[in-house]
Amino acid sequence: MSNQETARRGNIYGIIGMLIALTATIAGAQVTSYGVLAVCMSIGAVIGIIVAARVQMTAMPELVAILHSFVGLAAVLVGFASYLDPTLHYTGVERTIHDVEIFLGVLIGAVTFTGSVIAFGKLSAKITSKPLYLPARHWLNLGLGLLCVWLGVEFVGAETAAAGTIPLVIMTLIAFAFGVHMVMAIGGADMPVVISMLNSYSGWAAAATGFMLSNDLLIVTGALVGSSGAILSYIMCRAMNRQFLSVIAGGFGAAEGTAATSGEVHQGEVVPVLADETAEMLKNAKSVVVVPGYGMAVAQAQHAVCEITKKLRAKGVNVRFAIHPVAGRMPGHMNVLLAEAKVPYDIVLEMDEINDDLPDTDAVLVIGANDIVNPSAQDDPSSPIAGMPVLEVWKAGTTVVMKRSMATGYAGVQNPLFFKDNTRMLFGDAKASVEAILANI
Ligand code: NDP
Repeated sequence: MSNQETARRGNIYGIIGMLIALTATIAGAQVTSYGVLAVCMSIGAVIGIIVAARVQMTAMPELVAILHSFVGLAAVLVGFASYLDPTLHYTGVERTIHDVEIFLGVLIGAVTFTGSVIAFGKLSAKITSKPLYLPARHWLNLGLGLLCVWLGVEFVGAETAAAGTIPLVIMTLIAFAFGVHMVMAIGGADMPVVISMLNSYSGWAAAATGFMLSNDLLIVTGALVGSSGAILSYIMCRAMNRQFLSVIAGGFGAAEGTAATSGEVHQGEVVPVLADETAEMLKNAKSVVVVPGYGMAVAQAQHAVCEITKKLRAKGVNVRFAIHPVAGRMPGHMNVLLAEAKVPYDIVLEMDEINDDLPDTDAVLVIGANDIVNPSAQDDPSSPIAGMPVLEVWKAGTTVVMKRSMATGYAGVQNPLFFKDNTRMLFGDAKASVEAILANI
């Protein structure tokens, strides 16, 4: 899964693994009501097929987020079912261990559930991407954490299932609230870390479910997702130059109470350009770098971009793609789109691989990207994205930025790139602009 060429095979292995797991579970001794199971699985399968078939590529991030929430909710439900199951009779140490597994599984599952629902809301723009800070939020979090520890002790020490249910329910409600609070406090530009973190949590929730059910396969796969999600979170943090803990503690960048500004704050004159002029510039360039961003995904411009690339390369122009680690709305978003359009992998480079070449590049095409090419990340310490490494496109000969308006990107900050002397703005839908350039080439 760590390589684009083999990722398809990785997915096929994953599907086979799920089929084996489902078959083994269905054939297991615990399953007796095949009729109920068949109905439930049919409903789940129909919903899954419809959603997956209908989802737009741009809505993929929110779909992933909502699927994480299902894993969390499943862990909560399995936890309660496992606790209330009258057929399970654990005693002594075994009972304590089982209770701890249930408590942790429900806790992680509940945080994952509501956290992912809020992430879904933020990614689909149903909830504002600005961070929401409650007063004394760190103390609030600490207090809730300590309360959960106390409830855990009460739960494990409870004599009867009825007595244990009360602390379990209260903890679940607190964990639901904590999940909401944690993700609401995270600002727009930090969302990549949150997505990978929730991915990791969903894995730990599944692993905890595996412990509750004494299911080795679930423990192994859950731990796999949990640890790979944790590694991805680390990679995202490193790519954005952030401390993992400060992101989780509630939004980096925007200081308390100074949520990112949005709207149109003009900082000078912009120089518009037309598609035919851009085509002319590209034809005369020796080296071109394309920087795709979220707008390319929205416009579905990747196929036309690939055509331009082919034409320019046929003319001897050195065309390469620069991928910022948080471009788009999910890790690897741009790589997926470019792979779909069959852009050769060897000309798709990571930010670190290409940033040093930008000063020697004749022309840069920024297609629907904004935050990832914002120089204020380097120049303005008060910016919500300060310190985040960005693609230094302003160092190239000429940079053409394709977008529809002067609106801000996901982080809600104005971009001084648009006002630089060597920047040209090509306004309009990215697909229409790219197709117009293609026609002129
Ligand atoms: P941005 O969100 O910063 O900017 C995208 C730009 O695309 C907008 O300014 C918009 O301008 C333009 N746009 C939108 N639709 C179109 C269209 N149809 N045609 C042309 N332009 C269009 O995207 P970036 O990729 O630069 O940066 C990603 C941002 O998302 C970062 O802040 C990142 O932290 C955040 N994020 C990333 C995640 C990840 O995992 N990769 C997850 C969650 C958030 P206009 O409206 O004027 O057209």
